[in-house]
Amino acid sequence: MGKKYVYLFSEGNGSMRELLGGKGANLAEMTGLGMPVPQGFTVSTEACTRYYEDGKTIAPEINDEIFEYLSKLEGMTGKKFGDPKNPLLVSVRSGARASMPGMMDTILNLGLNDEVVVGFAKLTGNERFAFDSYRRFIQMYSDVVSEVPKEEFEKILDEQKKARGVVMDTELDTEDLKLIVERFKRVYKTYLGKEFPTDPKIQLIEAVKAVFRSWDNPRAIYYRRTNGIPSSWGTAVTVQMMVFGNMGNDSGTGVAFTRNPATGEKKFYGEFLVNAQGEDVVAGIRTPKTIAELKDTMPEVYEQFWKIAQRLEDHYADMQDMEFTIEHGKLYMLQTRNGKRTAAAALKIACDLVQEGKITKEKAVLLVDPKNLDSLLHNQFDPEALKTAELLATALPASPGAACGQVVFDAESAAQWVKEGKKVVLVRHETSPEDIEGMHISEGIVTVRGGMTSHAAVVARGLGICCVASCSGMVIHEDQKFFELSGHIVHEGDYISMDGSTGKVYLGKLPTVSANMSADYITLMGWADSFRQMQIRANAETPEDAAQAYHFGAEGIGLVRTEHMFFEKSKIRAMREMILARDEETRQKALDKMHVYQREDFEKVFEAMEGEPVTVRYLDPPLHEFLPKEEEEIEALANEMGMTVVRLKKVIESLKEVNPMMGHRGCRLAVSYPEIAVMQTQAVIEAAINVRKRHPSWNFEPELMVPLVADLGELKFVKAAIVRAADEVISHANSDLVYHVGTMMETPRSTLIADQIAKEADFFSFGTNDLTQMTFGLSRDDAASFLNAYYDRKIFELDPFATLDAGGVGQLIQKAVRDAREIKPGLKMGICGEHGGDPASVEFFHRCGLTYVSCSPYRVPIARLAAAQAAIQYPRENV
Ligand code: ADP
Ligand code: MG
Ligand code: MG
Repeated sequence: MGKKYVYLFSEGNGSMRELLGGKGANLAEMTGLGMPVPQGFTVSTEACTRYYEDGKTIAPEINDEIFEYLSKLEGMTGKKFGDPKNPLLVSVRSGARASMPGMMDTILNLGLNDEVVVGFAKLTGNERFAFDSYRRFIQMYSDVVSEVPKEEFEKILDEQKKARGVVMDTELDTEDLKLIVERFKRVYKTYLGKEFPTDPKIQLIEAVKAVFRSWDNPRAIYYRRTNGIPSSWGTAVTVQMMVFGNMGNDSGTGVAFTRNPATGEKKFYGEFLVNAQGEDVVAGIRTPKTIAELKDTMPEVYEQFWKIAQRLEDHYADMQDMEFTIEHGKLYMLQTRNGKRTAAAALKIACDLVQEGKITKEKAVLLVDPKNLDSLLHNQFDPEALKTAELLATALPASPGAACGQVVFDAESAAQWVKEGKKVVLVRHETSPEDIEGMHISEGIVTVRGGMTSHAAVVARGLGICCVASCSGMVIHEDQKFFELSGHIVHEGDYISMDGSTGKVYLGKLPTVSANMSADYITLMGWADSFRQMQIRANAETPEDAAQAYHFGAEGIGLVRTEHMFFEKSKIRAMREMILARDEETRQKALDKMHVYQREDFEKVFEAMEGEPVTVRYLDPPLHEFLPKEEEEIEALANEMGMTVVRLKKVIESLKEVNPMMGHRGCRLAVSYPEIAVMQTQAVIEAAINVRKRHPSWNFEPELMVPLVADLGELKFVKAAIVRAADEVISHANSDLVYHVGTMMETPRSTLIADQIAKEADFFSFGTNDLTQMTFGLSRDDAASFLNAYYDRKIFELDPFATLDAGGVGQLIQKAVRDAREIKPGLKMGICGEHGGDPASVEFFHRCGLTYVSCSPYRVPIARLAAAQAAIQYPRENV
């Protein structure tokens, strides 16, 4: 027997996600638990991989296996595919290993054709229902399999409703639907030049292929890239007997959560539509009823559903997001998965489940997605400003947070405007998966229609973007690009503010204040801190950033970029004088000014960190970022330096580098001009001595870091200058201050000679931005423009500057850590660089055995949680 590609629900279980996809595995699991799941089978992800390997065809043996299982399904249900007397209708559903909500396409009611629909009408005694199902099938099949534009069908539906003077789909009668079916088929023929396929077997196999293809559609690719899902996984296809929520008023379909996905409140929560099918709820076309109303109208169904929901939550030990359908008063479960949730809800649910004794603290820490924390740390509106703000509307608070921006009415404009550096709020009737890219980059999203489980709401919560939904008072004039709301007219480009936690929309731009952290946040982060083995530091140069980082739980500063301490106008002049000085005297004069600034700034940073360790990175100004460009500035500089403008311009010209990123920067500057390192050393040591005088109990030991070392000689030379200057200051002050001299590991060569460097250095800090740049030979400043082609062509799946390239750059780090710890066991090694706040990279650093990661202040909580999750799941090397 060959390889098995198809599995009945009864042959699978919840642990088979890789093979059956999340949806297929959970349907199998629910079947195993004896829950009411319509029968079906799943074609595995391996079949999807084979489909692509075989040049986008389904191999004959897989084809045969699918139809063998279809016969089994016929046997189990007592219905027959394509048989007008008792037809089996199926849904064809996609499902990847990781849930990709709304990213892929589902086809319902497959198996209908002109004859079957007539038999189906007879059998159900409901002709209207049969034709409603048929027109839905043609619509979905044409869209998903044949890519006929959706709007064509929407247009016909709208026209028919208009002609009949009705508003809702449900008000159309059988004759309307028959007409619509005919018109739909004509549209299909116009687009494809052939008749709509009548053979259910062809329908089925074409649908399976379409699901496989949808794995590679642009929105799925975009979702994968933004969520770090490898394209090699593939999707499974589930074929399932249809049950019908559109059979009348004792039928319906909906979605429910075991707890509130926005707040985490422990309350059965959901929405459903009477006499509806499939995505009607999510598409937000009609406003749904709440699950509480189900309790009133169908108490027994409600009771049964509630029990199943509880059981599923206990079974998976996590909040569940379920899809269900009621056919003539009978409940069917169509899906369950661990529900997406806001950060606030994630924290509350994790803490509550521990409290309820359902999970361990470790599991609770794993339940919260570190990236999600971002949204918690973001701003809220200033309560003072809210008092006088012009309130436009209060609608559904679909995804929390405060945002303001300029109004745009479509995703393309959003993308365009954001590219121009603007902040936008996307305003739409409802959103669909095509809008995802525009939604991602918007500050917030307002929709006229749709509930808490609408596409806009679900996606926004996933992205941590604020969203207000169901703003039904709003009238959008899309063509003329304005909307009316509460007597106001708001044009494209006008500012509005919105609060996704309260559902309020305001006119104009409102000021915001920083978020404050909930008790659940503090509890869970406390657990995380107790599990993690790496320390978390922050990259900060201003006292404000340092204080913010400390507030977020940073245990030190891993990177003070001293050149960033000169960004203020008055200070940058001193820096420029230093860079442009052509003689010792002028340089010393500039350095003396810098010395004063530096000492003051270091004192403030040390104070803000309350005695936690601080690593000061010596000046590393890529020259092109610091040379003056404006005429006025050049004149002022020339004056100050006693030079003519013409002469200064010549100096500037002479300093221009062809390749500044690999130019005269980092320790190379200190090799040419050791007085720069001397000045910085004096400033740091004096500041440390002063701060220690004020706080005798703070026992901190400043860490002095030499950047961009590639050769041992460089480090030795600069270190000698530093040690001489530091010891002089210390002995002069009669102090017992201890300091450390370490190095940044950011050239590939430094990692290759890590054993030599370890002998000289008191600590290492991997500068993964430069290390990535130089290992790939990819310019940090220029790569973004052409990396898109790499993603499109699947050469890169992730941005190596955002997520550490474990296979290449990571190997250099692993080797350096191993070699260095052999020379100096326990050597302190950290990383500073964008990767320090990226959860996947943090996991890698944990496994490498690094002492700490350092990241930007707002990412400190993310790093704390990611480090804890890594510690719970993976052992460390070289420690
Ligand atoms: P998605 O992954 O986008 O949620 P699904 O495969 O879950 O897509 O299908 C969407 C909806 O279609 C389901 O929530 C359900 O309402 C409906 N559906 C799918 N399969 C069936 C079925 N066999 N019977 C009735 N409704 C179905
Ligand atoms: Mg679903
Ligand atoms: Mg660097």
